[in-house]
Amino acid sequence: MIRVFEDFDFSRVGQMQSLLEAQGIETFLKNQFGFGGTGELPFVETVPQLFVVHEKDADRARQLISEAQEEPVSAATWTCPKCGTEIEGQFSECWNCAEAEDA
Ligand SMILES: [Zn+2]
Repeated sequence: MIRVFEDFDFSRVGQMQSLLEAQGIETFLKNQFGFGGTGELPFVETVPQLFVVHEKDADRARQLISEAQEEPVSAATWTCPKCGTEIEGQFSECWNCAEAEDA
């Protein structure tokens, strides 16, 4: 098994698992119960970790995960309040009339 992702936030790890499973990649979760109960283990041992079962899927899995992580939080398209032009989320000003998004 190949470890492809780990995060202290288990919901994030679960999210990546769903993403990979949706692509037909077999996955395995380790330490999904996170902290508590196993207080004697070193810190790193209790980080929820996501593995792929088959080594051949590892590259694709990492690719999918990195794409998912790069997605900007505020990438939603917005409409200029002044001229009504649709603006892509990465721009904070209207390219048509230079009105700011929050104006
Ligand atoms: Zn505008």
